[in-house]
Amino acid sequence: MTLHAFIRKKCALCGAISDHAELISTSYFGSPNLDGRPPPLGRWTLDTQIQNCPSCGYCAPDISEKIDRASVAVKSSSYKKQLREPELPELADAFLCFSMIMEKVGNYAKAGLACVHAAWVCDDETTMLAREGVE
Ligand SMILES: [Zn+2]
Repeated sequence: MTLHAFIRKKCALCGAISDHAELISTSYFGSPNLDGRPPPLGRWTLDTQIQNCPSCGYCAPDISEKIDRASVAVKSSSYKKQLREPELPELADAFLCFSMIMEKVGNYAKAGLACVHAAWVCDDETTMLAREGVE
């Protein structure tokens, strides 16, 4: 069983207040995929692993914590374009924006992992659309 709670956060960049789902607990049934993707039920908790400030677009695992130089990335035109990329799910855009911030600060491991998470979001959406008979 997966439990979520909504937590009120103050954005470290712009000060806006917003509510975000945080994971309280989850279960895992089975083994992770070869790429490290967790099995269900934990597999369906990606939406609790990234937060997106609705005011300034800051994307981070915890938007109440400031990441040095994040504001430079968030204000860039490439970041803003990625944040509203209509071809991808919003959750994937948030992970890719966090990846851009991590790349800006030189944390390439976290940047790469955020891209993998974005790919998982896209894969999950494709799987769900296929189950619903939508192409
Ligand atoms: Zn903000």
